[in-house]
Amino acid sequence: MLGLMQDRPLLITTIMEYAATYHPDHEIVTRAVEGGIHRTNYGEIAQRAARLAHALTRLGIHQGECISTLAWNSYRHLELYLAVPGMGAILNTVNPRLFPEQISYILNNSAARILFLDLTFLPQIEKLADKIPAVEKIVIMTDRAHMPATSLDNILCYEELVAAEDTRFDWPELDENTAAGLCYTSGTTGDPKGALYSHRSTVLHSLSACTRDSLGLSSAEVVLPIVPMFHVNAWGTPYAATLSGARLVLPGAEMTGENFYNLMRDEGCTIALGVPTIWLALLQYVATLKDQDLTSLPIKNFIIGGSAAAPSLIDSLEKTFDATVIHAWGMTETSPLGSVNRPLAKYAHLSDQQKMAIKVKQGRPPFGIEMKIVDDDGHDLPHDGVAFGRLMVRGPWVAKGYFKQPELNILDDDGYFDTGDVSTLDPDGYMTIVDRSKDVIKSGGEWISSIDLENIALGHPQVAEAAVIGIAHPKWQERPLLIIVPNAGETPTKQDILDYLQGKIAKWWTPDDVVFIEEMPHTATGKTQKRALRTLFSDFTFG
Ligand code: AMP
Repeated sequence: MLGLMQDRPLLITTIMEYAATYHPDHEIVTRAVEGGIHRTNYGEIAQRAARLAHALTRLGIHQGECISTLAWNSYRHLELYLAVPGMGAILNTVNPRLFPEQISYILNNSAARILFLDLTFLPQIEKLADKIPAVEKIVIMTDRAHMPATSLDNILCYEELVAAEDTRFDWPELDENTAAGLCYTSGTTGDPKGALYSHRSTVLHSLSACTRDSLGLSSAEVVLPIVPMFHVNAWGTPYAATLSGARLVLPGAEMTGENFYNLMRDEGCTIALGVPTIWLALLQYVATLKDQDLTSLPIKNFIIGGSAAAPSLIDSLEKTFDATVIHAWGMTETSPLGSVNRPLAKYAHLSDQQKMAIKVKQGRPPFGIEMKIVDDDGHDLPHDGVAFGRLMVRGPWVAKGYFKQPELNILDDDGYFDTGDVSTLDPDGYMTIVDRSKDVIKSGGEWISSIDLENIALGHPQVAEAAVIGIAHPKWQERPLLIIVPNAGETPTKQDILDYLQGKIAKWWTPDDVVFIEEMPHTATGKTQKRALRTLFSDFTFG
């Protein structure tokens, strides 16, 4: 027998309409790409999303086709986030930091006829123009006064496009499983792969993100997503903030510690989200400020994901701002929130050191996400915090396949997706990433976690960034090489670093060598680019 409750579909338009009805005056603040601060609110955003949907309809866009963006975190991008899926089309956010070949691959794969572009990215697209034949029109996300000179002839101006349109749109009542968003994995091997989110998965993910044990967004919070809207939907914050009515502060194109700090201070941000390198930039900037009481800022939570949050980073952020760091894990294929680290009440009495040992874990899955770890034969491993294996996840916001790649079966027999991460699960359900499976160092039949070694090396006061890669070894198969970027003006020696590690790691984990470089290569999503390091040190041998 079926229940007798109403079958209202879970649609992105319902998120928008709720915000417009119940939080119309809650602000969306943007550091505008053209300069200055721009202020709008959910009421206006919903009206402008309606105008945009009319304009797209006029341009011949119909349900099921993709619209691509190369754009920063801004109110116009939020309008696209709401209007495009709302009318039944698919929003494909493209990461402008990818290689040109990857960007053209994505634009050809999504076959978007219209590309929305922030001013910053026009030169990139001018160079790619003859490689993206499907793109018929490029909309520059600005007003007439800021329209740039360009060699392209198929250019439209965003503000002109929407200006004359109606502020009401008859949003279709779609099937909640209709595709809504398309994000590509950063593709460290092969071509990028598209995760195709649905309205249902997006709404469920947003509801989950708002819970107290997850990101904890609510109408009382002021949220600063520094994680870009071109990378896994800024971890879902544009939708979760709209759903909750949180005040949304968007940093635009200025990815500097100064911009992050000024927005946190001037807009009273309470929750900020980003990858570890962002927080390094913030900490470096605030270290230059004199006589500022940073602990009195209203910031409560820094949410860190994308790469492991080292204890030294957690400690610095918490002490500098008198805030709490929340470590989270996820991936493009998981929308992305797969686990969030909130402490259980029973940990309240633990010492700071014991609490830190828990905080560095990647956290517990929220309701909806199921996790298991398996060995190479697919057998379940115990959740004892010690055994480690391939992390497998399933849930209503986890991918079951890739866009236009029906031949790829990415699930096991029980419907779990193989994340490619190697993890432990402890008896309380906290997951710890040991490594990406391809980054783990295989030494003498045992595994060394590059993340653990990096986290410990980062605790050295002269170390800014650290990365560990495996180097082929005639006897042990692989041994760790520790690569370090020192803090500005510091010149630690190999022996300083090895002395520091001693006693903190098992002796056989000790790196066989330590080398120093000036700048760490990063991927388009802010992770350490291990592949580039492997290339850089491809001829390296231990002396
Ligand atoms: P992406 O799909 O580009 O967001 O990358 C997802 C991958 O980033 C995951 O599979 C992990 O390897 C890594 N990752 C994400 N969050 C964390 C974290 N908190 N700690 C360690 N690795 C992480």
